[in-house]
Amino acid sequence: MTDTFTIAISKGRILKESLPLLERARIIPREDPETSRKLVITTNQPGVRLIIIRATDVPTYVEYGAADAGIAGKDVLMEYNGDGLYEPLDLNIARCRLMLAGVPGSQNGDGRLRVATKYVNTTLKYFSDQGRQVEIIKLYGSMELAPVLGLADRIVDLVDSGNTLKANGLVPLEKIADISSRLIVNKAAMKMKHAIIKPFIKRLAEVVGK
Ligand code: AMP
Repeated sequence: MTDTFTIAISKGRILKESLPLLERARIIPREDPETSRKLVITTNQPGVRLIIIRATDVPTYVEYGAADAGIAGKDVLMEYNGDGLYEPLDLNIARCRLMLAGVPGSQNGDGRLRVATKYVNTTLKYFSDQGRQVEIIKLYGSMELAPVLGLADRIVDLVDSGNTLKANGLVPLEKIADISSRLIVNKAAMKMKHAIIKPFIKRLAEVVGK
């Protein structure tokens, strides 16, 4: 189906900040994806639809071609191991930082640092690039709790205002990466559907001032 175009987006901050960009690129959903229970949402453009999925699933749908394009945080893309994706545009939205954080004044110690995170691959790479050995504890959320209860010495998580760290008695220690959301495109779709995708990327690039 070279005449349809499916864009994968996740609910929350990315969706909220993506919709105005899509609207300015003349793609307007027929219902509000934030409140609708539908996972497939048609738009004002014939054949163009949005699918609403979990943030970590966006690269998977796009790599396998179930979606032609998607909007995903750089944190998710860094963590994802795949090579069927183009990343043509930094949308400069949902900006934050991936940080190492911990209890103030805590020392690195002699033993191996225990780091709790959902970003296992990115965290391992960050420390191994520096020749530092760490033990990773995989968590799926509420990472801030881990150092407080002694489950881990440090966490790696997204930080925006820093309020969540502060509210849980933690401080940022090292910046691992600046994060923003990126447009990703399936490699085969880029060739097969270039008549739809090229103008779409161009319009979005104009909207975000690139
Ligand atoms: P803050 O309290 O403003 O530093 O925000 C930190 C919390 O919001 C953490 O739970 C993060 O996982 C989450 N967060 C911050 N920025 C983002 C983002 N761009 N996308 C998704 N989650 C985020």
